[in-house]
Amino acid sequence: MIPILNLTRQYEQLKDKIDQALIRVAASGHYILGPEVTAFEQEMAEYLQVKHVIGCANGTDALFLALKALKIGAGDEVITTPFSYMATSESIVRAEAKPVFVDIDADTMNFNISKLEAAITPRTKAILPVHIFGQAVEMDAVQQLAKAHNLAVIEDCAQAIGSEFKGTKVGAIGDIGCFSFFPSKNLGAFGDGGMCTTNDNQLAERLRMLRVHGSRKRYYHEEPGLNSRLDEIQAALLRVKLPHIDEWNHAREAVANRYDTLLAPLAAWIQVPRRVENSGHVFHQYTIQLKGPNPAQIREQIQQHLQAAQVQSMIYYPVPLYKQQTHADLNLNPADFPVCEAISDRVLSLPMFPELRLDEQEQVVQALTAAFKAQPVLA
Ligand SMILES: *Cc1c(COP(=O)(O)O)cnc(C)c1O
Repeated sequence: MIPILNLTRQYEQLKDKIDQALIRVAASGHYILGPEVTAFEQEMAEYLQVKHVIGCANGTDALFLALKALKIGAGDEVITTPFSYMATSESIVRAEAKPVFVDIDADTMNFNISKLEAAITPRTKAILPVHIFGQAVEMDAVQQLAKAHNLAVIEDCAQAIGSEFKGTKVGAIGDIGCFSFFPSKNLGAFGDGGMCTTNDNQLAERLRMLRVHGSRKRYYHEEPGLNSRLDEIQAALLRVKLPHIDEWNHAREAVANRYDTLLAPLAAWIQVPRRVENSGHVFHQYTIQLKGPNPAQIREQIQQHLQAAQVQSMIYYPVPLYKQQTHADLNLNPADFPVCEAISDRVLSLPMFPELRLDEQEQVVQALTAAFKAQPVLA
């Protein structure tokens, strides 16, 4: 079986260093928010070229902490994309604010920059771009608009660590960047983990306060916060992995380039990921789009063929956020998001990880070619 993701190869590559780090923490007697976390926060700040890094329990909490740090809550609106993982808009609801979705761009699958301004109302407090699949959003347009309307910018960087827009790393561009270290992300822990990033001293202080029950001084609490701390064992592991992130992201790009070449003969049936000038892509996912009519139906059959040929594929994401039960109260009309509607029927993600070998990619493409050729409507 060629899995969509294989995490054991990365462990094998760094086994000795990782094992040493884990044992070092086990023996230290310090397990939460200790010296490993502090060192990791510093090393990560250096890597991202951002002033502050605040470790927390997961990427979902990072988004919630960011909203709380910016004092976004009841009566406020936050503009974001409908084509993301649930955590993005769920965090806005959790903060008691209202998510406002704008349709996406068919090529990048990121929200459509030209639709942002029309979504701004007097209640808008922030824009929340998601660098989906690892490709950076056109951040200069977002920043310009936010500045003109006095809005905060919260970047959801969960899939895009190391990605850059015009040479600046994502998470160092908006007011706060939110990252996840869920094991499947480009920089993954051995469990849950996350962080917020900011260049703003005051926001950094609020984020640090909010992650420990709204307290600056132990047992003195100023406002309701969270228990959202990063474990020492995860920080120690992430410190071993961080120096390799660029090398792994480059390997992902090489895998993507090889797919582009191998998939060229299928151009009548599929669109490979589009690259955009100025927007870096760290290929958290390699997501193709099926062309032609009835894509959702054909996709189901293609997936069955792939499965039978021992190739795993995934649909990120089959249901846009405005169609989720969670947001039923928003009463949104799918017809207002025609591009997202079409794209969610067309997307298919193929196996993608830095250690994926050429022979495995060839097997994926062979299986995909056979699957398309077996389609009566296409043959
Ligand atoms: C993974 C992910 C999150 C949430 O991160 P967790 O660590 O799983 O809570 C948020 N947004 C996006 C786009 C993600 O992919």
